[in-house]
Amino acid sequence: MAKIQMTTPLVEMDGDEMTRILWQLIKDELLLPYIDLKTEYYDLGLEHRNETDDQVTIDSANATLKYGVAVKCATITPNAARMEEYHLKKMWKSPNGTIRSILDGTVFRAPILVKGIRPCVRNWEKPITLARHAYGDVYKNTEIRVEGPGKAELVFTAADGTETRELIHDFTGAGVLQGMHNTDKSITSFARACFNYAVDTKQDLWFATKDTISKKYDHTFKDIFQEIYENEYQEKFYTLIDDAVARVMKAKGGFIWACKNYDGDVMSDMVSSAFGSLAMMTSVLVSPAGVYEYEAAHGTVQRHYYKHLKGEETSTNSVATIFAWTGALRKRGELDKLPELCAFADKLEKATLDTIESGRMTKDLALITELTDVTVLNSQDFIKAIRKTMEK
Ligand code: NAP
Ligand code: MG
Repeated sequence: MAKIQMTTPLVEMDGDEMTRILWQLIKDELLLPYIDLKTEYYDLGLEHRNETDDQVTIDSANATLKYGVAVKCATITPNAARMEEYHLKKMWKSPNGTIRSILDGTVFRAPILVKGIRPCVRNWEKPITLARHAYGDVYKNTEIRVEGPGKAELVFTAADGTETRELIHDFTGAGVLQGMHNTDKSITSFARACFNYAVDTKQDLWFATKDTISKKYDHTFKDIFQEIYENEYQEKFYTLIDDAVARVMKAKGGFIWACKNYDGDVMSDMVSSAFGSLAMMTSVLVSPAGVYEYEAAHGTVQRHYYKHLKGEETSTNSVATIFAWTGALRKRGELDKLPELCAFADKLEKATLDTIESGRMTKDLALITELTDVTVLNSQDFIKAIRKTMEK
């Protein structure tokens, strides 16, 4: 059979540990036999980031701006232990943080539902998509450890030199201090991305902040959402973050929950675990310029990788990484008008879900499925089983 042709390369961002192993397996078994895969390859594995002083991360984000679609493997965000393990020159920043600050935009995370795995919140019948603002707040903060008494002030010096000062706290002893920011431009593009996505996928949009407490910071988010809604859109829902959390637990699902950066980070982990597994969650960054970056929502699965290095068998779930590829290929197909490429993405996703629904799955899913006749497969065999399903 002739391979499916591509016209524009995908930006391929390789990563670390167990997900790097899965990455290669997915390409070898599920993509290269069927597609004349065109990618511009960037190795975001920690060793190569260290060798290039992290320039490769910046280059990959710029390539994404150029081509429009990227697919990213999970990567290590270095900490003290990684400094030693990889003999790093510096504690390089989170690649996701670097990429997001270049692309701006909003991260949409949606659980992948399969028959036989029911969310532990029983009333959730449809997916809840989390829209996470991917710029600013605590992720771009400045912190001071205060060692003793003193006055902390917030100072803004306008371009014309005018100073605005606000007292933060008169410290009588040691403590901590944090400064953060966001911009109207980024909040506006976040709001637009959410409204567009809601209209596109015909779902309701929920948005919640803590504007009763944060009367300027969080209130600005609320005001911008309100203004864009009133001027440009119809359906929307605004409430307090506390109320949203309570309502989400009672809801049926089938809506988009727009969250500030930090809320989106933690709530997406809660939603994905409640739907079954971190490995059953897709994630896409949509930038205001119309650029898309697809990834799995989970990390590099370090614990499994160490087992793999010891020669032990692993049963790591590759579904989210497969869906990152299919999401990117489908988007490339839509942009380049290649219906065969879109059809291939649909077919691979269906084969993945059919394989699980037929009882063949990785251990994380086997532990929570309601199916009774289950075969637990190792990392490689699960991917091979999907290939068999696809070729049926
Ligand atoms: P993780 O890689 O998401 O794994 C945490 C645990 O969740 C695993 O130990 C495993 O549980 C389970 N799990 C996650 N993905 C799985 C999969 N595909 N199949 C089966 N089980 C899965 O988080 P982490 O261990 O905290 O972080 C490891 C590294 O990933 C860190 O260096 C971190 O910086 C990085 N990270 C990267 C990203 C990203 O690039 N987007 C996101 C988060 C973290 P069991 O061990 O119980 O089987
Ligand atoms: Mg998180």
